[in-house]
Amino acid sequence: MSGPSSLERHPAKTVSRPEMGLAERIYLVELWRGLAITFRHLFVNLFRHARRALGLGGLPGAVTIQYPEDPAVVAKRARTRHRLLKREDGTPRCVACMMCETVCPAECIHIRAEESPVTQIEKRAKSFEIDLGLCVFCGYCVEACPVDAIRMDTGQVALSTGSREDLLWTMPELLGDKKKEPHPVWPGGESEKRQEPKRG
Ligand code: SF4
Ligand code: SF4
Repeated sequence: MSGPSSLERHPAKTVSRPEMGLAERIYLVELWRGLAITFRHLFVNLFRHARRALGLGGLPGAVTIQYPEDPAVVAKRARTRHRLLKREDGTPRCVACMMCETVCPAECIHIRAEESPVTQIEKRAKSFEIDLGLCVFCGYCVEACPVDAIRMDTGQVALSTGSREDLLWTMPELLGDKKKEPHPVWPGGESEKRQEPKRG
């Protein structure tokens, strides 16, 4: 791909570590504060579970999920990792109108357009890249697309990795033509277990 990459356009910023105060350096104060928060959650959830077990209703208590062995089930409408859709003939639906790139508040979509060989379509994407290290998952790109070429319905939320480069999703990966390998720190992790939804 020619031109600066997303990593060059958005270089990493060095954030300095905040100075610790005396209470933080003593450590014990923070330890007790942490324990107080843990026990507050324990008793609040115990109370909520007990109320519902007795049929008294009220707010549901929190449930612990053994993540990542037990993948979290996200709501169907949740905005999850993007995918690009294809037409019935297998070509990408994207017409390189740049609406998603223009509307993206994080400036993390980068498209290069080229002339389409099909006469009814003016342009198509030569390359399409999303930098998920910058994405804020607002869903504006999906809303802006005039041809329903991009969706955020893969159900995939485990995107953590060991390098910024791994968070760059290219067109073949977004189209599902090339598998994005999960980072070795997550062998057998969610990205392998989760079934991709049917593409349509
Ligand atoms: S979800 Fe929002 S931030 Fe992410 S690529 Fe789409 S428009 Fe940009
Ligand atoms: S808005 Fe849709 S058609 Fe336009 S460039 Fe983005 S994905 Fe392609």
